[in-house]
Amino acid sequence: MLTICQFALWALVALPFLLLLLVLTAAAYGHHSLQRSIRFVSAAPCPKCGKGVGRAAALAGKDRYRQKIQEMMKQNPGVKFRLVAEWEIECPHCGIRLYFYPGGNKIETTSIFANHQRIEMTGAR
Ligand SMILES: [Zn+2]
Repeated sequence: MLTICQFALWALVALPFLLLLLVLTAAAYGHHSLQRSIRFVSAAPCPKCGKGVGRAAALAGKDRYRQKIQEMMKQNPGVKFRLVAEWEIECPHCGIRLYFYPGGNKIETTSIFANHQRIEMTGAR
């Protein structure tokens, strides 16, 4: 018969395993969604020339974004950033600059941050 004490003990043992499982699931999901974003943007046609952007350009954009974050964190140690992920991708065929947002799997030709700044500036006037 399972007493409350035994149940509490069991929960105490099982809890770290459950947490570990949760962390692993989250990591696996994060990896999966990153791969899906890379696949999505690699296959996406360029809005200007219509050719596929390609995996190499997508990965380069992702790495640039990661470097940018690392630099920001180095310059502002201890500051937590709430950022919208934005990969700057250059079309290897026509050279146009694209902005990819992995969060919403959206590709734009102008950065949403440029728009945001414009809104802020007009709002201040
Ligand atoms: Zn292009």
